[in-house]
Amino acid sequence: MLPHNGYMPNQFDPYRDRYAHRAAGMSRSEIRELFAVLQRPEIISLAGGNTDTSIVSHRVTECVELTLSRYGSEALGYGIGEGHPVLREALTELMALEGIRAQAHQIVVTDGAQQGLELLAKIFCEPGDLILTEGPTYVGALGAFDSFQADVRTVPTDEHGVIPDALAEYLDTVAADGRRAKFLYLVPTFQNPSGTTLSAERRPEVISICRARDVLIIEDNPYAQVRFEGEPVPPLRSLTDEGIIYLGTLSKVFSPGMRVGWLVAPETIRERFVLAKEAADLCSSPFTQLVAATYLTSGHVPEDLEMTRKIYKERRDAMLDALDAYFPPGTTARAPEGGLFLWATLPKPIDTKAMRAQALEGGAAYVSGTAFYPDKRQGRQSMRLNFSYPSLADIEEGMRRLGRVAHQELEFATSLEG
Ligand code: PMP
Repeated sequence: MLPHNGYMPNQFDPYRDRYAHRAAGMSRSEIRELFAVLQRPEIISLAGGNTDTSIVSHRVTECVELTLSRYGSEALGYGIGEGHPVLREALTELMALEGIRAQAHQIVVTDGAQQGLELLAKIFCEPGDLILTEGPTYVGALGAFDSFQADVRTVPTDEHGVIPDALAEYLDTVAADGRRAKFLYLVPTFQNPSGTTLSAERRPEVISICRARDVLIIEDNPYAQVRFEGEPVPPLRSLTDEGIIYLGTLSKVFSPGMRVGWLVAPETIRERFVLAKEAADLCSSPFTQLVAATYLTSGHVPEDLEMTRKIYKERRDAMLDALDAYFPPGTTARAPEGGLFLWATLPKPIDTKAMRAQALEGGAAYVSGTAFYPDKRQGRQSMRLNFSYPSLADIEEGMRRLGRVAHQELEFATSLEG
């Protein structure tokens, strides 16, 4: 029996009996559903995952001009599937800052890290294959894994990330049933959506548990450089280059609109990625790759990152203050030391999915916790709130609106219970 994601065929779709099972089962994430609503100017969105691109927009203008004058028609033609060598070289230097030793020939450039996730699922997942993730986990990864009908399960986590003993126990239990997870997908640093970081102590443990059981690790690492507090924690890929596929992106340090991501994989797997990628899009845009490479080698990255960290920290603090001021007592949230998101858990019996419509009516948007679980049922009391994109004034007002709706919901739900 294939995993079922609640898809109901659209009876008005005249083509409904022709789709492949995997296409029929695709569904829109809550975030995508919200996109249309978020165009309404009266709504303050804390739902997105955008960075504040105004921080680097002037760099983009400079880099576009430089790229065209330096590379001319090379930037405007097709490129090779692996990605432009100049960018791949620059990416090795970027990763070296985090202690990752990788060579340009080990890298495949992708259309954002999201394409890396899609190719990953395409290469590895038969329908029903077991994949493990943190719970909650990145909604776009769930979309990619779902579209290849994988059986996605979550492993227990706490405030320090995946719990190694629980992971080992889970893997041993499924092994006793003759199953092995195809891979463990982790966003170990400033996880989207929870903001959690897998502790430095646990990282080698997780690696050795997976190695002993022959389970690949996928390290998806978009946020590590957006750290505004605390000590950096070494990426898993800096601890070993075996058994790990590493995904990176420039979306959070440069611009999501460039759609420049990359992956680093063991050689034989890397070859599969290149073939799958060439089938998907021939190559990533040489133009945006070269604009990105021009930016990475411009010398401006450290100062821009410093500015980004300062701005996001201020916004995170404003959001935490507003949470304290406006949300019902009993609401909890851990202050993330970096990244883009705050994960807030509201008191029972609030149901954040049910509350969404009222929140939109009240003029503010968030993503409910259920979107980040494979079963779309857990996480009912939680919400993901984005602090990187909205201004300080919008954070204050958006949180005030959400707090008011949460209070109303709580009163209403309690009156029903009583
Ligand atoms: N992985 C994670 C954990 C993310 O949060 C995101 C973006 N929100 C992505 C991958 C995809 O990023 P992009 O495709 O823009 O590189």
